[in-house]
Amino acid sequence: MAAKVFQNLIGGEWVDSRSGRTHENHNPADTRDVVGIFPHSDSRDVDDAVSAAKQAFAKWRLVPAPRRAEVLYRAARLLEERKEEYARDMTREMGKVLKETRGDVQEAIDTFYFMAGEGRRLYGFTTPSELPNKSAMAIRMPVGVCGMITPWNFPMAIPSWKLLPAIVCGNTCVIKPAEDTPLSTLNLVRTLMDAGLPKGVINIVFGSGPDVGTPIVRHPDVRAISFTGSSEVGRIIGTMSAEQYKPCSLEMGGKNALIVLDDANLDLTVDGILWGAFGTTGQRCTAASRVIATKPIYRQLAEKVAARAKSLKIGSGLDESVEVGPQINQSQVETTEKYVAVGKAEGAKVLVGGSRLKSGGYEHGFFHEPTVFVDVDNQMRIAQEEIFGPVLSMVACDSFDQAIDYSNSVVYGLSTAIYTRDVNKAYRAMRDLHAGITYVNAPTIGAEVHLPFGGVKSTGNGHREGGIGAIDFYTQWKAVYVDYSDRLQRAQIDTGE
Ligand code: ADP
Repeated sequence: MAAKVFQNLIGGEWVDSRSGRTHENHNPADTRDVVGIFPHSDSRDVDDAVSAAKQAFAKWRLVPAPRRAEVLYRAARLLEERKEEYARDMTREMGKVLKETRGDVQEAIDTFYFMAGEGRRLYGFTTPSELPNKSAMAIRMPVGVCGMITPWNFPMAIPSWKLLPAIVCGNTCVIKPAEDTPLSTLNLVRTLMDAGLPKGVINIVFGSGPDVGTPIVRHPDVRAISFTGSSEVGRIIGTMSAEQYKPCSLEMGGKNALIVLDDANLDLTVDGILWGAFGTTGQRCTAASRVIATKPIYRQLAEKVAARAKSLKIGSGLDESVEVGPQINQSQVETTEKYVAVGKAEGAKVLVGGSRLKSGGYEHGFFHEPTVFVDVDNQMRIAQEEIFGPVLSMVACDSFDQAIDYSNSVVYGLSTAIYTRDVNKAYRAMRDLHAGITYVNAPTIGAEVHLPFGGVKSTGNGHREGGIGAIDFYTQWKAVYVDYSDRLQRAQIDTGE
């Protein structure tokens, strides 16, 4: 069967790229399976999309927010109906197992409902004026056209975190999804269009980072940028945005530690480690890629984790019995292979896994065994650098304080976890772990959409997605003063003396 051909969405019309160039989207479990053919766009397509978004903004900003929210409620219900179909599309285009892609769609649904509720809040505030017969208030204004650049690992959830708060606040958007996962973003936006979103409020331009992402960031009519991806690319995007004084939200890498103390419930901890380290094949910015365990339990814990990791079923995520899918592409699986070699050269020991799978049904995909390293020194590269693959580095520590120091020793600060039954240590960890997220007796993954999501240090630049933090990013405050005294009143000068 010929592969389906998809188009950009610009001003509500489905159109080819101006150049007519395309690229194929492959199934990472079997690259012979072409999921679709997508436009490979350039700056001309970005110009068209920004112009459509700018035109749409003139009307959309005036639609009352509760009415804007009604589109989101309708889309949420449609997405519920389409959940299974879109989860299957997502597994086919990016590999993670169906249970997880259903979760990804569900996260978008949850975001729809949360952000639709914001349509009837978007609270500003009133406050007394310092002068008589004068009122003062602060109201939220939309920013304008917002540009979004998204990664492949949560290809519906992450676009929903950006697009939905943006549009409920009255902005319009141009989004460029990752080249490996165009279909899931298209499915999300198609649902909104079917729910009655006016033309041009969301525009999608497919293509590469340099050809489409950069022109979006550089376009003078794009007034805010939201990016999720690597810290390297985030630095480039943040720098480009700064040149035009554009607000820019960056959500980037992680090297998240899961701390295990002597008194932890070990079986519960093993469940958490497996899910945290090997869920999404380790390709989450919140993955538990380090375990820091106190010495008395370290060996026993490592053996238990290794035994379970060894028995994980690897294969196509479309098979319901599979627990670990492929990696996203050739370059990502090669990165995993490179880090396994680095870990060995540094003197760490592979307790289980360690190899790419290239035969026995795995030859057409990007499969790598779940891998557990022990005898890892905290200074080793495999304990410090983000791998984004199914590799877990287990570090032994002497004490609770050392565990906290080790966890904080990396350049990132996204997610952290601690397993303990000691409430005092749990509270100290909540206070002392330098990260945007801390879990107690749960793994490093599992963010809920109504809480702030993001991190510190090289993970982020101070913004948060999820919850009302997103509303703060997609609105700008305006202070409004109304003087009903019928005379000139001068703030700071007419002090009543
Ligand atoms: P990942 O590791 O998730 O692939 P990247 O940071 O490479 O992370 O990519 C995240 C997103 O940023 C993708 O949509 C990608 O196309 C885009 N991107 C990559 N390079 C650039 C760039 N120079 N300018 C703008 N966007 C870029």
